[in-house]
Amino acid sequence: MKPCVLKFGGSSVATPERIKAVAEIIKDKRETCDPVVVVSAMGKTTDELLTLAYSISQNPPPRELDMLLSVGERISMALLSMALHDLGVEAVSFTGSQVGIITENKFNRARVLEIKLYRITEALEEGKVPVVAGFQGVSLSKEITTLGRGGSDLTAVALAISLGNVPCEIYTDVPGVFALDPRRFPKARRYRRLDYAVLSEMASSGAKVMHARAVNLAAKYELPFLILSSYEPDRGGTLVEKREHLESPGVKAITTDSVVMYDVEGREGVPLLAKVMGEVRVLNFSHDSTGRHLVLFVPEEERDKALKILSDLNLRFSIREGLSVICVIGWGVGTSPEIHETVFSVVGWEHIFMMSVSDMKMCLVVSRDREEVIVDRLAKKFGLYESPEG
Ligand code: ADP
Ligand code: ASP
Ligand code: MG
Repeated sequence: MKPCVLKFGGSSVATPERIKAVAEIIKDKRETCDPVVVVSAMGKTTDELLTLAYSISQNPPPRELDMLLSVGERISMALLSMALHDLGVEAVSFTGSQVGIITENKFNRARVLEIKLYRITEALEEGKVPVVAGFQGVSLSKEITTLGRGGSDLTAVALAISLGNVPCEIYTDVPGVFALDPRRFPKARRYRRLDYAVLSEMASSGAKVMHARAVNLAAKYELPFLILSSYEPDRGGTLVEKREHLESPGVKAITTDSVVMYDVEGREGVPLLAKVMGEVRVLNFSHDSTGRHLVLFVPEEERDKALKILSDLNLRFSIREGLSVICVIGWGVGTSPEIHETVFSVVGWEHIFMMSVSDMKMCLVVSRDREEVIVDRLAKKFGLYESPEG
């Protein structure tokens, strides 16, 4: 039978019961393909490991951080293999380095260069289910590395490509991709099929459902993948693939993310911008031609890192918190005057701290207490609540 890659995220393996439920899904799947399983750390394990690290040191060496964080996935891969054995399925767990997931020499956010598939082919030939730890690899200089938060998606996509573009299923806690975060907006419309480009824009602006780098890698190799819920696998999900876009300008999704604004005074900040951007994920920046101000927007989870870097560079800056970036995503969004007008009429110019427009995306920074109302109104205007799925 042909291999297939099945990835289970942290929410799918959060408890022993969920691990057993996942084992059942894998067992059933064996009737149609030979599963290669990728698993994330249980629930909030990675967050807990990070907290533990920072309770020891304010400045943990990146190498040791990766050594620690890679443990989360090792726990779940071993437990899932045990659960499979109990169901009579021979399974064998492997770390990223054991299966030859080779990354660049960079800790915390390493890129995958190659997958050797070392032990995977062997296990499949022996009729066993390989269970691979997501989110980790081994660098060219043989150090354990991690791929960046949410990186198990990337492991799954990279494996499916290396195995020859085999079917790839991403199991999570929601049954697919919705036009809005379905946990906050339960009436959001679900997509049964979606183009890589839309999901890539969504992922890079706060929709956690799939890692942006994983979407881009799948697009590069035209690997279709299915996103579905491990809680309700029978509900189907969203097939993400290359779609010929005959779409007329239209809004497909709205994302939100919490951001922090840094206002850097003086000219000194400008030449140092590249240095800051190398270390921190800067969502957007603006700089006036007088050079008096450099304004940076960074995601809230990068707040402390940005604060430290700007302070270490001896820059003078002020910080503004409690902001949200709302992004409206779809084909032609950047060039449609009708869409722009609708957005401005809903948001109101006076409430916008920053705005950016690109081909498929229009993003606005607003005060967080207005976020929910604005998204709700925009969703109504653009028809993003339940209607015929498509
Ligand atoms: P996993 O643990 O499986 O990796 P994540 O927490 O990374 O899962 O991603 C799933 C979450 O993504 C969902 O619980 C959902 O709240 C969130 N999400 C945000 N935006 C969307 C969206 N537009 N469609 C689906 N899920 C979304
Ligand atoms: N466990 C890692 C994280 O929490 C990777 C993942 O879940 O994909 O970021
Ligand atoms: Mg995830």
